[in-house]
Amino acid sequence: MELTRPESVSDAVASLGNGSVPLAGGTELIPLLRDRIVSAETLVELRRAVPKGVDGTTIGAGTTLGELEVDAQIPEALREACRLAASPQLRAAGTIGGNLLQATRCWYWRLKFPCRLHGGERCHAREGEHREHAIFANDFCASAHPSDPAAALLALGATVRTDRRELPLSELYRLPTEDDRSMTTLAPDELIVEIEVPRPDASTYLKAMDRRRWSFALVGVAAARFGEETSFGLAGVAPIPWAQLDGATPLPGTAYKTQILDALVRRARHAVAT
Ligand SMILES: Cc1cc2nc3c(=O)[nH]c(=O)nc-3n(C[C@H](O)[C@H](O)[C@H](O)COP(=O)(O)OP(=O)(O)OC[C@H]3O[C@@H](n4cnc5c(N)ncnc54)[C@H](O)[C@@H]3O)c2cc1C
Ligand code: SF4
Repeated sequence: MELTRPESVSDAVASLGNGSVPLAGGTELIPLLRDRIVSAETLVELRRAVPKGVDGTTIGAGTTLGELEVDAQIPEALREACRLAASPQLRAAGTIGGNLLQATRCWYWRLKFPCRLHGGERCHAREGEHREHAIFANDFCASAHPSDPAAALLALGATVRTDRRELPLSELYRLPTEDDRSMTTLAPDELIVEIEVPRPDASTYLKAMDRRRWSFALVGVAAARFGEETSFGLAGVAPIPWAQLDGATPLPGTAYKTQILDALVRRARHAVAT
């Protein structure tokens, strides 16, 4: 496997495609390569190519979660979502760009069961162990999106800037279907460059976990209030970051999540109220 170290976004994009994969902090990608879930002929290291740091409402995709959690310019919901994610060591290396594009934690997928996300015909989780899985949009694939920051950015109405377009964060994600099993709308040679985050009047992020720390969200609820309007972003409840509060279709083993969701939404609404 080769490693390239481009100095600019355009050089990085030119190196992508044909079996090349972008590498940021590597906290997600390296284990996936090691376990042969992802393959790559060339790793394109983004450290020198993609912007890093916070400038007003703009966050460079190479900014680490550790940097975001302590930056006073960042809205509370996103700071808290970063602070509650992973461990301090992982947050020191893991970038916001990589976090938004992390793969599902579904153990069937990680153990390479031939499930629908791997191109197969079945969702093994729906029929098997699914305590940590989705309560919304779980018909085709019942995985639960693991990103806390994505839920916060969804509630905040963030915009993602790539090397070729600008799109609302909600449009970065798609539900997998029979014809297209991918979970994002990003092209294989497209890079996230920056994220634009509006400043709300108030925001919060609440996370229910199996352990008090260093655990993925069973349910994560971000709320952001702009004037009289409050928006929500949810983690751990749908295959992609989710904004709707109604229409849950829990599986037998995930019914408990609806009660947690109701309780966290109530608390989050209260926390951002005028
Ligand atoms: C044990 C463990 C616990 C964790 N717990 C949590 C948690 O509780 N909450 C949570 O939200 N996250 C959690 N994470 C995920 C962690 O936050 C991510 O692994 C990390 O943020 C990924 O960032 P990275 O820079 O290391 O990405 P990488 O591993 O380098 O890349 C991840 C993916 O993104 C792609 N990529 C990276 N940057 C870009 C870019 N700019 N443009 C296009 N593609 C790009 C890569 O090609 C790869 O597919 C956990 C991870 C681990 C290993
Ligand atoms: S939930 Fe999704 S990733 Fe997990 S087994 Fe089902 S199809 Fe595969």
